[in-house]
Amino acid sequence: MSEIVYLNGEFMPADEARIPVLDRGFIFGDGVYEVIPVYSQRPFRLVEHFQRLQRSLDAVRIANPLSGPEWVRLIEEIVARNPGEDQSVYLQVTRGVAKRDHAFPKDAKQTVFVMSGPLSTPGPDKIEHGVAAVTTTDYRWLRCDVKSVSLLANCLLRQHAVDAGAEEVVMLRDGYLSEGSSSNVFAVRNGVLLAPPKNHLVLPGITYDVILELAAATRLPVEVREIPEAEVRGADELWLTSSTKEVLAIATLDGKPVGSGRPGEVFRMMHGEFQIFKRKVMRAAA
Ligand code: PMP
Repeated sequence: MSEIVYLNGEFMPADEARIPVLDRGFIFGDGVYEVIPVYSQRPFRLVEHFQRLQRSLDAVRIANPLSGPEWVRLIEEIVARNPGEDQSVYLQVTRGVAKRDHAFPKDAKQTVFVMSGPLSTPGPDKIEHGVAAVTTTDYRWLRCDVKSVSLLANCLLRQHAVDAGAEEVVMLRDGYLSEGSSSNVFAVRNGVLLAPPKNHLVLPGITYDVILELAAATRLPVEVREIPEAEVRGADELWLTSSTKEVLAIATLDGKPVGSGRPGEVFRMMHGEFQIFKRKVMRAAA
């Protein structure tokens, strides 16, 4: 059975959805998106996802085509129309359809597309053993804070990881840690959680914020600051975070063990806290 998607006001099976070839999302990658995890049919941190969507839209000067309540209803409906308790909602807004010209069209209407599939979080094996990552130079543009559908660099970077037999890249820009191709990266050194600052060089992850909140709640010392390459390579622990990865330990970096080469103690604590927090939030929303 094909999943049900939403396109410009209508729900339909995914294989029946069509967009015109001149959609600027197709031609230029001119659009923004969000990925929202859904646990037990309830979207996680929906307000924060909508706030980030608004910031992305503002940054690329696309007017938000829907109001807050309209977005909420739409997300609820796409979740209800698709199978599964835990889902991953993908939404995309492009600048719309217009004659090909780099400059913004005067009267194009935004394209709104939403789909939802099963949420696949890491299995017990990855949680228990961690994953491999490889370092790369971060050669993306200087607005990585915008959740843009122009993801060619991120695709190339992820493929670099896959070709190296790894799960993700750990990117360095000018000698400092930025993030992964589709995840934020944290380090732990001497019991202190290190996080790169949220600026134009990284995507402000919703999970990143959850991790910092849980660190504060558990009195884990945190330093939000630039992290030089030497500290990345010498870290006791490295973690990846994202809406679909949640929090995942990196066991090897460029083939060398991170710390003991096994997910560390601070990771285990944080992974446990994250699961408890998720269940608490979902119960509260029920
Ligand atoms: N950085 C990048 C480049 C990403 O694509 C993502 C995933 N959207 C993240 C970080 C993590 O963000 P979130 O926690 O909101 O999934």
